[in-house]
Amino acid sequence: MLIKANSEEIQDFFSDASYLRGGYAARVTFPETADEVNAILAQATREKTPVTISGAGTGTVAGRVPFGGTVLATDKLDRIKSIVRDSAGGRAIVEAGVRLIDLQRAVESEGLMYPPDPTERSCFLGGNVATNASGARTFKYGPTRNYVTGLKLALATDRSSSWRTLRGCKGPNLDSASLWSCDSRAVAFISNASGSQACLRLFRHAGNGCD
Ligand SMILES: Cc1cc2nc3c(=O)[nH]c(=O)nc-3n(C[C@H](O)[C@H](O)[C@H](O)COP(=O)(O)OP(=O)(O)OC[C@H]3O[C@@H](n4cnc5c(N)ncnc54)[C@H](O)[C@@H]3O)c2cc1C
Repeated sequence: MLIKANSEEIQDFFSDASYLRGGYAARVTFPETADEVNAILAQATREKTPVTISGAGTGTVAGRVPFGGTVLATDKLDRIKSIVRDSAGGRAIVEAGVRLIDLQRAVESEGLMYPPDPTERSCFLGGNVATNASGARTFKYGPTRNYVTGLKLALATDRSSSWRTLRGCKGPNLDSASLWSCDSRAVAFISNASGSQACLRLFRHAGNGCD
């Protein structure tokens, strides 16, 4: 697993689009698997040090600005695991570090549409779920949580952190998906079957300017 501790190399992870100053951390880790995520969280729990999850850093409320401890960067959890068409439209299984624009392009090439879009398309889907990202399309289609049908989370609450799959996370109802996708400081990490993941609902692309 890549770990960077050179302060010049990791400066970019100490800020986001809020431009809050003063962020700092000892290191930035770049896990590529669930086991690596688990190891980071377990160590931090043992040592009682904070972990800040980093998406693309487009958040405007300083949620990813660290004040000590370790940054867990999701940049290398960037796989679209599957895009499946079904009678209702389709679904996609993605890792936390997939860029929104990459998912949009991938589903559009299948004639499908993923509506949530907070304007800044370089953001990661993990960041979108954590902040329940909205945007202009939300007036018509609703926010990100309406499209999350399943999450796999790694929690740092136990002595050794473990993976938990939330089942039955459906649509717009207030449920556990909503709970986890409304708290950008949740001690959770959206991640896939062998790593970490979210399952997202897709529409058939109407092809008539449904933006
Ligand atoms: C020009 C511009 C326009 C924007 N317009 C909108 C808008 O219209 N609507 C809107 O809602 N937002 C908007 N945003 C804000 C931003 O794009 C969204 O909040 C986006 O969802 C953040 O994603 P990110 O990957 O950049 O997350 P980051 O900024 O990296 O992180 C945001 C928060 O999510 C947490 N997080 C990130 N990944 C995970 C994960 N895998 N597991 C758990 N927690 C995680 C971080 O710790 C942090 O607290 C805009 C931003 C910009 C710069």
